[in-house]
Amino acid sequence: MSQQYNPFDNVVAAIKKAAAILEYSENDYTRLLHPEKELKVSLPIKMDNGEVKVFDGYRVQYSCTRGPAKGGIRYHQNVNIDEVKALAAWMAFKNAIADIPFGGGKGGITVNPKELSAGELERLTRRYTSSMSYMIGPDKDIPAPDVGTTPQVMGWIVDTYSMINRIYSPAVVTGKPLPLGGSQGRVEATGLGVFRTVLNILKKLDMDPKRVTVAVQGMGNVGSYSAKFMYEEGAEVVAVSNSSGAVYLKTGLNIPEIIEHIESGKKLCDYNAEGVEHITNEELLTLDVDVLIPAALENAINEDNVNDVKAKVIVEGANGPVTVAADDILSARGTYIVPDILANSGGVIVSYFEWIQNQQNYYWTLEEVNTKLLEKMDKNFEDLWTLSKEKNITLREAAYVIALERIAEAAKPRGIWP
Ligand code: GLU
Repeated sequence: MSQQYNPFDNVVAAIKKAAAILEYSENDYTRLLHPEKELKVSLPIKMDNGEVKVFDGYRVQYSCTRGPAKGGIRYHQNVNIDEVKALAAWMAFKNAIADIPFGGGKGGITVNPKELSAGELERLTRRYTSSMSYMIGPDKDIPAPDVGTTPQVMGWIVDTYSMINRIYSPAVVTGKPLPLGGSQGRVEATGLGVFRTVLNILKKLDMDPKRVTVAVQGMGNVGSYSAKFMYEEGAEVVAVSNSSGAVYLKTGLNIPEIIEHIESGKKLCDYNAEGVEHITNEELLTLDVDVLIPAALENAINEDNVNDVKAKVIVEGANGPVTVAADDILSARGTYIVPDILANSGGVIVSYFEWIQNQQNYYWTLEEVNTKLLEKMDKNFEDLWTLSKEKNITLREAAYVIALERIAEAAKPRGIWP
């Protein structure tokens, strides 16, 4: 279903809206409607059974105006160039609103990583790294994990890049395993940032986090940590889902038990506990809850289901989970939506901290990382909220206004080369 929507359209619409609010002329932002560089590679891999399979790989550097490109790598069967372009553009705006000195990029391979053995995954990752090795680098373009990739995948990228260039280069990616120069707190950073964002918006709306009901779509890295932190705060997390299905319990699910169930390799749809009902992913999105956290893929909330969405607050854990049309309908109805580029920026903020630690070869404690992360999340949310009230615009519009202005302000003194 999500294939009907081109996520890149969402980006263009958001940029144009922000440019209109800022009263920019086309000359001020037209560059930002085009990715700076798009790489498409074919990746032949020898499978374990001797067969050769060819996979499509991509890397897009959307904008390097504010610094080197930065953004994750996605392994998923639906990866295509329009998706990677949209994800790369969102990174440029996310890094600008996060106020970290990076441009935006993203990469991906069209593959279902769950269908590969560890050896096949390693060969695919190394081949992909070598195909884009001239494009990435600590001061050029710094990948990180995204849907379907892990710290181990980052480890293989560090090794391949370091072997090709004959220089140990841990700063070429972030989200690495700790012994390779990863940062404390990086694994849970996106979920922690989403959680903090939920607390920040609830405070503004005078809602007690201990009394709210929450539904989380997606129990990958972002969704599971968001759900866990909400549960620990005392909220009632009534529903969670993943690609296998969704579970619901009116009085609140036992999130640590569900995470353990999933981590032990079992399917979420096979989870059972007293009173737990099995519902569909679609039903989860339309539950009557206070807070909905879409933390799966793009376009989850769209024209087809938006009229049934009842949540008062939506905090976007995923990138692009609400289409433009659905966003307009929800905003007109008074639903508060905290946009992806702010809400899920905790991951890339700690990636920035990891990159700094690598460059300095000096490592921080978990407490230092988390204190700095939460300070940034709070300040960025406050700026967004204030601007949205001041100008009477949505939080998404405010986010793009702040981000676009930062990118445009950096573009001006750089000028256009030659
Ligand atoms: N993939 C994550 C995102 O979408 C993290 C990117 C990064 O850390 O560079 O924000």
